[in-house]
Amino acid sequence: MSSDNQLSLFDDASFNEKELIPSNAKIPIPAGTYATMNELAVHCNQCQRCGLAANRTQAVIGRGNLQAPIMIVGEAPGQTEDETGLPFVGKSGQLLEKILASVNLDTEKDVFICNINKCRPPDNRTPTTEEMAACKPYLLEQIRLVDPKIILLTGATAVKGLLGDTRGITKIRGQWFSWEGRLCIPIFHPSYLLRNPARERGSPKWLMWQDMQAVRAKLDEIRSF
Ligand code: URA
Repeated sequence: MSSDNQLSLFDDASFNEKELIPSNAKIPIPAGTYATMNELAVHCNQCQRCGLAANRTQAVIGRGNLQAPIMIVGEAPGQTEDETGLPFVGKSGQLLEKILASVNLDTEKDVFICNINKCRPPDNRTPTTEEMAACKPYLLEQIRLVDPKIILLTGATAVKGLLGDTRGITKIRGQWFSWEGRLCIPIFHPSYLLRNPARERGSPKWLMWQDMQAVRAKLDEIRSF
């Protein structure tokens, strides 16, 4: 056997090891499984840990800076995201971009955007508790890899998916939580703001503006240390 072939045998062996990563959602994926976001993406695209796999065009992993100080976690991909493979690129994504720009946050530099679930639920329904649990190890790995200082949780599903807190978003938005040594803040989901366009004091849009200013101030404070 040529030495090239022998080397490729080693490649095959390490690839097969990755294939042993559990597709059964009851078996956890240990922290440290993925060395890079690309490795995680390959596995998400093969994942069968929940029924959403049957529906996906592709898994939607994330976009933005892989070393961003801020991570934004949404719910799950919609149709445009499923088609493009990128999170928050439909209508609510466009609003999210404007919201970030309003406090001078640059998507390519300051944030990494992803979701609780990597695959699109049928008819954009809310992911079930089981689907969220099946996908959670990927999110935890993404958080470990990006290592953000601040995590924005957009909407009640993102809050439930990461923190396990089932309170309504209007109750807890704008509050800082300490989670695994990181700061988390629930905010409204941009799609909620699309449905509630009023801007007066106390409206969802106005509250979002307050929350985003608090995020901007917190980032500046962290950077000044
Ligand atoms: N809504 C989400 O929560 N995530 C997306 O990626 C798109 C819309």
